[in-house]
Amino acid sequence: MISLIIPCYNEEQTLPILYPELCRVAEEIAEHTFEFLFVNDGSRDGTLAILRDLAAKDERVKYLSFSRNFGKEAAMYAGFCNVRGDYAAVMDADMQDPPGLLKDMLAYLESGEYDSVATRRVTRKGEPPIRSLFARIFYKLMNRITDVDLVDGARDFRLMKREMCDALAAIGEYNRFSKGIFGWVGYRTYWYPYENVERAAGETKWSFWKLLKYSLDGIVSFSQVPLALASYSGLFFTFLSFVAICFIVVRKWIYGDPVAGWPSLACIVTFIGGIQLFCIGIMGQYLAKVYMEVKRRPHYIISETNKEDVRKIQ
Ligand code: UDP
Ligand code: MG
Repeated sequence: MISLIIPCYNEEQTLPILYPELCRVAEEIAEHTFEFLFVNDGSRDGTLAILRDLAAKDERVKYLSFSRNFGKEAAMYAGFCNVRGDYAAVMDADMQDPPGLLKDMLAYLESGEYDSVATRRVTRKGEPPIRSLFARIFYKLMNRITDVDLVDGARDFRLMKREMCDALAAIGEYNRFSKGIFGWVGYRTYWYPYENVERAAGETKWSFWKLLKYSLDGIVSFSQVPLALASYSGLFFTFLSFVAICFIVVRKWIYGDPVAGWPSLACIVTFIGGIQLFCIGIMGQYLAKVYMEVKRRPHYIISETNKEDVRKIQ
């Protein structure tokens, strides 16, 4: 059995396009049965009504409906915690992760050489150039300062064995950055390249700022380099100020002590003040993560589902 985990947030326009395509793919892969596990992430439109309808008509359709919008990460986590299939795939609802690729991906998995088949976009056609630029910088930076291996253009769309899903579900951290977690759990992964596809209908839920925040979260979740940076810059400035003190003392001996140089002093004070605030800010970012983590709040709350044995609060 193959479980497809599909996070949906305000996807009433795309579900009627996605569902027939899923049925077609299920027919194509006749040797496996399917479970379509939709996770309604607190949509404000008719998404839940559509899911109820589909579930009434088709017993492969299962849904988990959140009590509010918890974010895509929480929706994927809910999926990992509740899959039943021997294989599972995460897939967006907007057809940007073409269900048609599943057959090919399955072939790689069944060759026995891989435990998971992940996808990466080799083009970013139809994306604003500034977004592509930042994405590229982000992947470069991530690869340099963390030890998770991130491929440029990596999507969340991937088909994997159940055991990998269980591993993902076992990572209960609150600040989830799935792209990193996928890499962290390991397993033999094949990267399946494909051309970018534009959203079938509706609008993206990710603004530029939301993406920027998400990428910073990713860095804080998987790297301690920014913290190290704060202490290194502290060391550097201590050294620099020592040199400056020597310079000033020597100058006083040689030239006496004219009252001059207050502008440079003001510059130095503000500059170092800035650096200090910046470093405190970095520490604050980590502290905020620790704060959320120690509270141990649930990742999501399910208010409605047609699936049995579901933990509603996890
Ligand atoms: N999504 C979600 N919760 C959110 C935002 C998005 O479940 O808070 C889902 C959304 O329904 C879609 C997937 O995550 O299935 C990817 O979202 P979107 O297509 O808007 O992102 P993009 O492809 O533009 O990065
Ligand atoms: Mg999309």
